[in-house]
Order: sequence, then C-alpha cells, then structure tokens
Amino acid sequence: MANRKILKRLKRKCSVCGKNICAIVYNNRKIRGGHYFGKIPLYRKSEMNKMGRSGAHKSKISRTWTVNVYNYDPKSYAHFEYWECPQCYWHPTMKASPIQQAAIKATLKKRKR
Ligand SMILES: [Zn+2]
Repeated sequence: MANRKILKRLKRKCSVCGKNICAIVYNNRKIRGGHYFGKIPLYRKSEMNKMGRSGAHKSKISRTWTVNVYNYDPKSYAHFEYWECPQCYWHPTMKASPIQQAAIKATLKKRKR
C-alpha cells in the first residue's frame, strides 16, 4: 500500500455498453475502475465474410472450455483497446456484437500459440 502511486488516469469507453470509464493505473500495473482485456483486432466485412465461409473447427482454450474457431484467419485493419466497465465485467447483461465476439475468440486463439 505504501508505495502505490497513480501512474495515469485513463478515459475509456466500455466496449460492451459504451459507458465512459475512468480507469486509474497504478505503478504496479494494477488498474482500478475498469477491466482491460488487451487490444482487439478490427476486421473489415469482406474479411469476416471470408472467415465465415472458411468453416470452423473446435479448439480447446482450457480443459473445460472449447470454442469453434474459424479456419481462416482474417487480416485486421486496426486494433482497439477492449475495456469493460465494472458493471459489465461483474454483471454482464449485454452481449458483445457477433463481430466483437469473433474478434475476441481470434485474440484468445493467438494468445494460446
Ligand atoms: Zn459496460
């Protein structure tokens, strides 16, 4: 507690509900006020269509979690930071859009390698 300093304050938007987040980043890399999941790639519609037509296979993320992963890896044109406000993190009421869900899955898949 003693030498915990605030490194910076970030103004972000919740990627799920769009609410503004005021996140505080401490010098021990802990973040308060928001949950940061990392950068998520954004895909053009044509890339998503290609991916949709490529078919999918099952992939194990963990022992108990299996997801369908598309065979085609879409190329991203940009990245955005994926944040969730505390409410969406702890009490998810809204579902991410299908494109976001696919992007999140693709990101999880890449991390696994
Ligand atoms: Zn939210």
